[in-house]
Amino acid sequence: MIKKYILALDQGTTSSRAVLFDNEFNVLGIEQSETTQIFPKPGWVEQDATEIRETQIFVARKLISRLGVDSKQINGIGITNQRETTILWDKKTGQPVYNAIVWQDKRTSDLCEQINKDDFSEYIRKSTGLVIDSYFSGTKVLWLLDNIKGLREKAEKGQILFGTVDTWLIWNLSGGRLHITDYSNASRTLLYSIHDKCWDKEILDYFNIPLQMMPEVVESSGTYGKTEKGIFGNSEVMLSGIAGDQQAALFGQTCFDEGDAKNTYGTGCFMLMNTGDKPFKSKSGLLTTIAWGLNGKITYALEGSVFIAGAAIQWLRDKLRLIESASDTEKIAFEVTDSAGVYFVPAFSGLGAPFWNMNARGIITGLTAGVDYRHIVRAALESMAFQTRDVLNAMQKDSGIEIGNLNVDGGASANNFLLQFQADILGVDVSRPEFVESTALGAGFLAAIGSGVCEIEDLKKFRKTDKVFHSNMSDSDRQGLCLGWTNAIDKARK
Ligand code: ADP
Repeated sequence: MIKKYILALDQGTTSSRAVLFDNEFNVLGIEQSETTQIFPKPGWVEQDATEIRETQIFVARKLISRLGVDSKQINGIGITNQRETTILWDKKTGQPVYNAIVWQDKRTSDLCEQINKDDFSEYIRKSTGLVIDSYFSGTKVLWLLDNIKGLREKAEKGQILFGTVDTWLIWNLSGGRLHITDYSNASRTLLYSIHDKCWDKEILDYFNIPLQMMPEVVESSGTYGKTEKGIFGNSEVMLSGIAGDQQAALFGQTCFDEGDAKNTYGTGCFMLMNTGDKPFKSKSGLLTTIAWGLNGKITYALEGSVFIAGAAIQWLRDKLRLIESASDTEKIAFEVTDSAGVYFVPAFSGLGAPFWNMNARGIITGLTAGVDYRHIVRAALESMAFQTRDVLNAMQKDSGIEIGNLNVDGGASANNFLLQFQADILGVDVSRPEFVESTALGAGFLAAIGSGVCEIEDLKKFRKTDKVFHSNMSDSDRQGLCLGWTNAIDKARK
């Protein structure tokens, strides 16, 4: 029997990656190529859209050829991508009209401030589930239309296409035949009604963005169309899965049911909770977003993030020089029985959800002569868990849904102290998978469903658990620690 495979393309902010899975979702290989970030002015972040495309195709080809796989053996390709990053290109020539404007880019901040003052802003928030921020694609599209000479006229004539990175890649891989995005990516544009499930005409009119530019929105799994001959040898491979990176990670963590949540511990934390078929409006400044669209059904999620998580560990390493490497922190934290009443609130750039206080600043409290560097290291790790708890509590409050457990990934999820403390402080199980690249796995899962290899019900077994951390703390200890944290947050706010 010929072996069959699934290929995931993971186009991130700093790299393009390709991962090949067999039909049991064993990882057969990974290839990666860094991409260049361009900073033309303070607050501006761009990337070369051609480089995004070329590095992505290059790593995929390299992987297939290194593993000796014939592209005929690939059942389907799943695409996952850095979200919100905005590309406009000429429909005829395929040439981007400008660099990709990356999600981190702040050039439209003033514009967003203006919009926020407008009566229409509440409508945008309601329709899209988002807050008005330069982060999302909408105001980036507007900036391009307003700042590139003649672009709006061309766009009105239907000569210019808009896409997030998934759309750009698929358009290129399909030889310009497919101009599509999936529900999860569409829901990050600030232009899509997550309730009516269509591009919002009123918002497009408000921004003066022509509807002709917008891609068709499709389900996150499906037989969208095939790659053009020549991209992967002579065969055409089915493109069959799409999701934005965080939603793909939620899917890869098999958070298929209402109340399932995942947290990614990286520089910051990215948390998503599946809220089933209900788009809950947040009272704590969390985002309401589409997790995925599958089998005619939309699944929604609440999304929240912690600005400074692993970055606090980097700060201990690079600025305080308390540790040599991030991984030292686990052993150091286990050397003491507690943090001796020390709390570290790493509000380096203010506090996000659920506090939203941009004037707050970082603080280390509870210092006594008995405190040594180990307590401070431990308090830094604990701060990731406390902040995660604050966001999860807000999600539970907003939705009225209790989480049963938390699935985790990201660089800092390697830390056993952190995950044990996280389970303790939440009072629920925390589960770390063997393969922590949940984003690529999620794209692979979606592609497998799309190409008919399996059904969603079959997938749980392919997320192999590395370790489950069970809560091992009394309620009174938990309450005491959380009270201490809340007091520290109050001090940081002043
Ligand atoms: P990102 O994708 O945001 O760049 P990663 O998922 O690669 O981040 O994780 C890197 C972050 O995790 C860094 O901020 C680092 O300080 C932190 N980190 C990495 N390993 C550990 C560890 N063993 N314990 C605690 N923090 C860690």
